[in-house]
Amino acid sequence: EDKTGPLLEIRDVHKAFGGLHAVNGASLEIPRGSITALIGPNGSGKTTLFNLITGTGGAHTGQIWFDGSRIDGLAPWTRAHRGLGRTFQVTRLFKSMTVLENVVSPLGSFSPSVLASGAVSGHEADRARDLLSFVGLGRFENERAGALSYGQQKLVELAQVLMLEPRLVLLDEPAGGVNPGLVDRMADVIRAANRQGITFLVVEHNIPMVLDLCDPVFVLARGEVIASGPPDVIRNDAAVLDAYLGE
Ligand code: ADP
Repeated sequence: EDKTGPLLEIRDVHKAFGGLHAVNGASLEIPRGSITALIGPNGSGKTTLFNLITGTGGAHTGQIWFDGSRIDGLAPWTRAHRGLGRTFQVTRLFKSMTVLENVVSPLGSFSPSVLASGAVSGHEADRARDLLSFVGLGRFENERAGALSYGQQKLVELAQVLMLEPRLVLLDEPAGGVNPGLVDRMADVIRAANRQGITFLVVEHNIPMVLDLCDPVFVLARGEVIASGPPDVIRNDAAVLDAYLGE
């Protein structure tokens, strides 16, 4: 096992839906400790690639390596257990449960009936409270998740994924649908978690945010990586501009 190489490595991955090549020979490396971006026009294969990394995307060719081990044959929960976390484009919180219950819930350590009795306590609740403070939502712990703004819900989801102590977190449009004030907070929280050692792979349509937050940046078009590098290189890449203008 090579623990000095990239934290995640995607080698020549192909995924087709019928005759449609959603991911068409993509290769990329996510450096340890980075906040890496995956951008590209609609339909370029970003979500499909995310699903292949987490193990919910079904059969594909090529290889996926995480922390020096091949993971593409493993079940999604095994990958999660090894330290692979993700958030979703549309949040998947339990809207009628409290914010605190939602943050504790991925641990699966208690049943819904225990939740209904309000018995969230102990070490896990303390950690969940710390994470809620970390994302700036400590005072909302007893609110119903559905009562929060969409951006706040995305921050709750980030706290929820951090609860699992991941080493790599895939963020699917963390700024999507989030009001501008909270976009800055989201970026700050991601940076703070990154300073604590968590590596991120970010899919995001807010290009100014991506170019400010991420390095390196990978650009996908028609299922292939058409450019990669630091934000300043990507910003001026003719192929990238072309791919976006053709959207
Ligand atoms: P992105 O996330 O970059 O917008 P997607 O990965 O969602 O792109 O989609 C890539 C291509 O694969 C698109 O043409 C999309 O319509 C197609 N696609 C995605 N998921 C499926 C599916 N389950 N069945 C058929 N086609 C799909």
